Amino acid sequence: MPRFVCVACGTQYPDAGEPPDGCPVCLDPRQYVPPGGQRWTTLEELRATHRTELGEEAGLATITTQPHFAIGQRAVLVPWGDGLLLWDCVALLDDATAAEIDRRGGLRGIAISHPHYYTTMVEWAERFGCPVHLHAADARWVMRPNPAIDHWDGERLNLGDGLTLVRGGGHFPGGTMLHRAEGAGTLLSGDIVQVVPDRSHVAFMWSYPNYVPLPEAEVRRVAASVDGLAFETIVGAFPGTVIESGGREVLERSVERYARAVREVL
Ligand SMILES: [Zn+2]
Ligand SMILES: [Zn+2]
Repeated sequence: MPRFVCVACGTQYPDAGEPPDGCPVCLDPRQYVPPGGQRWTTLEELRATHRTELGEEAGLATITTQPHFAIGQRAVLVPWGDGLLLWDCVALLDDATAAEIDRRGGLRGIAISHPHYYTTMVEWAERFGCPVHLHAADARWVMRPNPAIDHWDGERLNLGDGLTLVRGGGHFPGGTMLHRAEGAGTLLSGDIVQVVPDRSHVAFMWSYPNYVPLPEAEVRRVAASVDGLAFETIVGAFPGTVIESGGREVLERSVERYARAVREVL
């Protein structure tokens, strides 16, 4: 029986004869249903029409899908002890990429910033026999439940070997960032702290595609969630969104710019 994947957001649904009536992730006001309506594919179809590409940004291996599929985010392979943590997720995993990940030490775990990137996380967890760490506050958005999913609660989860998950909130109540202590420190920020095209600021929204901002107090709370963590580099959710240095100053400057904008004194 097929497992349908939403073409607009990449979310995979459990085995079923027919596609779901709708995709709750896309029907939520933080996403959208495209003009042509909800369409569905499967991982098998996707393997025939798309390919997985490994790249590198900010010294980390990245995984993208070519041509563009669904939201278009990239996943990142973060060194974690003697293996790797998959940060965020993309729908397509092909055999060649899986073999290459094995060659580099394999996945010890998966952590995902928020429901827009849950995609086919269960396929990845089953392929690598590893857990998926998701914040419990977003548990209702898991469309394909699986015992591999570990719902953590609270503000921070120390994964060991210098990796820490931080609940930022904002875009989603369980919106999570990954801090890597190695070197001068790196913040992998998903859509929670969005690296914008000028790469000298970040932005904060409740809905990015529908341009719904967050209250200033919530933006300050998101920024405060990384208090005490050193980072020079910020790695955003999309290809090319990397702030190489000065990350802490960029975050603080961006919060003040945001606050001026919403008070109409930009
Ligand atoms: Zn969807
Ligand atoms: Zn998002």
